[in-house]
Amino acid sequence: LAGARDLVDDLVGDRAAEWDRTGLIPDDVLRTLSARGLLCAGVPRASGGLGASSTANGEFTAFVGSRCSSLRSVMTSQGMAAWTIQRLGSARQHAEYLPKLAGGQLAAVAFSEPEAGSDLSAMTTTIERDDDTVIVRGQKVWTTAAHYADMVVVVGRHGSGAAAVVVPTSAPGVTVTRVAQPSGCRAAGHADVRLDEVRLPATAVLGGGQPLMLLVTTALAYGRISVAWGCVGILRACLDAARGHARTRTQFGKRLAEHQLVARHLANLLTSEQIATRVCEHASRCWDDGSPEMVVATVLAKQVSAVQAAQGAATAVQVLGSAAAHEGHVVERAYRDAKLMELIEGSTEICQLILADHAVSMPA
Ligand code: FAD
Repeated sequence: LAGARDLVDDLVGDRAAEWDRTGLIPDDVLRTLSARGLLCAGVPRASGGLGASSTANGEFTAFVGSRCSSLRSVMTSQGMAAWTIQRLGSARQHAEYLPKLAGGQLAAVAFSEPEAGSDLSAMTTTIERDDDTVIVRGQKVWTTAAHYADMVVVVGRHGSGAAAVVVPTSAPGVTVTRVAQPSGCRAAGHADVRLDEVRLPATAVLGGGQPLMLLVTTALAYGRISVAWGCVGILRACLDAARGHARTRTQFGKRLAEHQLVARHLANLLTSEQIATRVCEHASRCWDDGSPEMVVATVLAKQVSAVQAAQGAATAVQVLGSAAAHEGHVVERAYRDAKLMELIEGSTEICQLILADHAVSMPA
C-alpha cells in the first residue's frame, strides 16, 4: 500500500465536504482507486489484487475513513463484494470477477430488504435455477455504492438454502434508485435495487445451497471489520480537530485545553480512539493468523468501534462548539456519519446479541 495515502490525499484533498453536500463522489476518483486495487486491497496477488493483510488494509481503511466516510463506505462495499466472491466463488469465478474489482470496476453487496433488516432470515429475494440460467426476483434496499456499481452481489434464497449472485447493474430487469438525502455518508451512493425477472447465466451464482445465515455471516464479516476500521478513522479525524481547536481557542483568558472539563473531553476522545484501534488490531490479527476467534473478534471490533465513534464524534462537537455547527465541517460530518455506523452491518443491539450468545456458550 506504499504511496496509497498520498494518492488518497491528492484525490480527496479538501473536497469531502463538497461531495457530502452534492451527494456524489466523482467517478474518476472511484475508478482511479479501483484501478489501483485500493478499494479491495485484500484481494490476493494471484487474482490481480494487492494481497494486503487485514492489518495493513485496516490501517488504510482508517486513513480513508479519516478523510471521507462516504469514500470509505464505497471501499467497504467493494471489499465485501470481493471477499464474498473469494469465499463463495469457484476458481473460475475468482478469475472472472476479482481482477475486475481490483482493476477499475465497482461493486456493491445487497442483503437488506424492506421487511428484512436486522432479521435477514426474513429475506424473500429468490435466485431460481432454469436450465443453464438463473432468474433473480426481489427488492433490495439501502445498498451502499449501488449507485456507482457495475455489479451488485445479491444474496437470496436458492433451492433449499441460499446463494449469492453477481448481477450486472446493466442487466435487463435491474432498477437502481438512489436513497434520497441520507443523513450521513451522503456521497456513498446508497440505493434501492429492484430485480424484476433478471435472467443471468448460472455461472453468475456464487456458492449455492448453504444455509442463509451462514452465507450472510461469511459476507458480513468483511463489512464488519471494514466498518470498524472506518470508525477508527472517524475518531482520529475528530481527535485531530478537537485538540487543534482546544489548543488555539481562548475563553475566560485561557486556552480551551486548559479548562479541565474540556481537557476531560479530550482525554475521553483519545481513550475512544485507542480502544477502537486496539480492538481492530486484535480482530485483524485474528484474520491474518486465520484464528478461529476471527468472527467473534470482528463483531466485537465493529460493536466497540461504532459505539466509540458515535460517542467520540458527539464529544468532538462539544469541544468545537459553534465552530462545528456549520454543515460540512469535518466534525459535523463525523457526527452524522458515525451514528449510521451503529446501525449497519449488524446494529449495536444485534452485535450485542451475538456477543451475548458467545459469552453464554464460552467454557467456564
Ligand atoms: P430494524 O431491523 O428494523 O431495527 C430497528 C431497531 O431495532 C435497531 O435499533 C435494531 O438494533 C433493533 N432491533 C431489531 N431487532 C432486534 C432484536 N432482536 N433485539 C434487539 N434490538 C433489535 N444493507 C445492505 O444489504 N447492503 C448495504 O450496503 C447496506 N448499507 C447501508 C448503509 C446505511 C447508511 C444504512 C442506514 C443501511 C444500510 N444497509 C445496507 C441496511 C442495514 O444493514 C440495515 O439498516 C440494518 O441491518 C438494520 O435494519 P433496519 O434498518 O431495517 O432496522
